[in-house]
Amino acid sequence: MRGPLSDAVILGGGLAGLTTAYQLDKSGRTVTLVEREAELGGLARTVEAKGFRFDLGGHRFVTTDSELDVFVRDLLAGDYVEVDRSSRILLANNWFHYPLRPWNALSGFGISTASRILYDYAVEQVKARFIAAPPASLEDWVVRHYGRRMYLLYFKEYSEKVWGIDCRSIAPEWIEQRVQGLSLGVAVLNAVMPRVGAKRSTLATRFLYPPLGIGQIAERLRQGIGAASCVLNDATVVRMDHADDRIQQVTVRRGNDTRMHGGEEFVSTIPLQTLVTALYPRPPAAVLAAASQLRSRDLLVVAVMINRPRITEHTWIYLPESKIPFGRIHEPTNWSPLMAPAGKTMLVAEYFCFRGDRIWNRTQAEATRVTVDGLQSLGLIDHRDVLGSVVLRIPNAYPLFETGYRERCERIYDYLDRFGNLHVAGRGGTFRYYNMDHAMRSGMDIAAKLVDTGAARQTPGADQAAGIAGLI
Ligand SMILES: Cc1cc2nc3c(=O)[nH]c(=O)nc-3n(C[C@H](O)[C@H](O)[C@H](O)COP(=O)(O)OP(=O)(O)OC[C@H]3O[C@@H](n4cnc5c(N)ncnc54)[C@H](O)[C@@H]3O)c2cc1C
Repeated sequence: MRGPLSDAVILGGGLAGLTTAYQLDKSGRTVTLVEREAELGGLARTVEAKGFRFDLGGHRFVTTDSELDVFVRDLLAGDYVEVDRSSRILLANNWFHYPLRPWNALSGFGISTASRILYDYAVEQVKARFIAAPPASLEDWVVRHYGRRMYLLYFKEYSEKVWGIDCRSIAPEWIEQRVQGLSLGVAVLNAVMPRVGAKRSTLATRFLYPPLGIGQIAERLRQGIGAASCVLNDATVVRMDHADDRIQQVTVRRGNDTRMHGGEEFVSTIPLQTLVTALYPRPPAAVLAAASQLRSRDLLVVAVMINRPRITEHTWIYLPESKIPFGRIHEPTNWSPLMAPAGKTMLVAEYFCFRGDRIWNRTQAEATRVTVDGLQSLGLIDHRDVLGSVVLRIPNAYPLFETGYRERCERIYDYLDRFGNLHVAGRGGTFRYYNMDHAMRSGMDIAAKLVDTGAARQTPGADQAAGIAGLI
């Protein structure tokens, strides 16, 4: 059966897909947006349960892109709060500030370890003058920028917990993008002279947050997409047909209903690997092989409802040690008090895992028990205060930058380049470590390109209305 014929078909209803749809719709284009989940927003959605609200891992909005900053503030029409960032790292029973504060680091590590950290860092600075080759792995990169002792104390364990593979097999790009070139020297300098680091979003001390959770950005984008366009939730793209180097249509499964959706232009924000395997006729074997070797890290989120007004004062707590089962926690009510019923709070734990592994396969009861035990052993909660929990599995949370990933991506991009009317955007869509602002920017840029070149033309309204009627 046929679905609507639109100017643009957008695959994925996270922030990248929604921003593309919003911008095209505002420019008078008709859009069909296809989202697999029941809710829109992708990784940046907010879940509500029994009056508690939480993001899939706390999401702060901060950007150095001033146009996008204005766009998001206008979209929220003033409905946001400014939150002071307060991040802590719990390591060897000591609480460390992030960004680093020299006295806190000194008292936490002790003079002897702190001196060793600075000594190792100085050694690497001298070595760097004689090494021309770029760092080959995450280990290389961190040792060069922070020294070996700091790498062993913090980065190695945490990175391997996050990624599930050896630091020597992780390409340096993730850490480069993550800390934006921040070295130990700059971190220390920032602690002494905060203005130095103020321009890096990694070190920003305040951020914007909608009072009912980050998902409000997606909600506002959805509300801004007019009735002439069509937004399909619970709808999975299962196939994408092409001929003569153009995408012809996508096949979308929604419950028992399967429909083909045609359009002039196609924008994919679904994981790059999924896109490649959906193409028909099938891409060459080398492209399929490259896609099958691109892996993502998945996430198990356990949100624990607690019968206490407040547990911590922080926005994030990082837990690098492998003996602690989760890698990061946040308390949504420290982001906005409206995130829980009065007098109650919630702690949200993130477990980094691979689909189908031991962590991913935990039952709700097991995942809750491990989390509550972990939180109790850290002295944060008493299990008698626990009111309930929500356990969620989030596939494709992080593109995994294994060494060789860049060549695999390039092989795929080279192949996709032949399709004049296919555009990729977003985090999983491009396989880049995008934050929300980058994801939205990538969608905005594609929409602008399509409007500027007139690529997404207006299609006759009659087809549109006839097609939509059966589905909404
Ligand atoms: C734990 C965590 C914390 C984060 N914290 C921050 C933060 O503090 N600040 C920040 O700026 N960024 C943060 N990010 C990053 C941010 O979430 C992403 O950059 C952004 O949400 C990506 O949007 P997207 O639209 O590109 O991708 P996604 O949100 O992944 O959207 C892709 C969509 O495609 C859908 N889809 C997949 N397959 C199909 C299919 N076959 N058919 C139809 N639909 C499909 C998915 O369901 C999804 O909704 C965080 C990410 C994680 C995982």
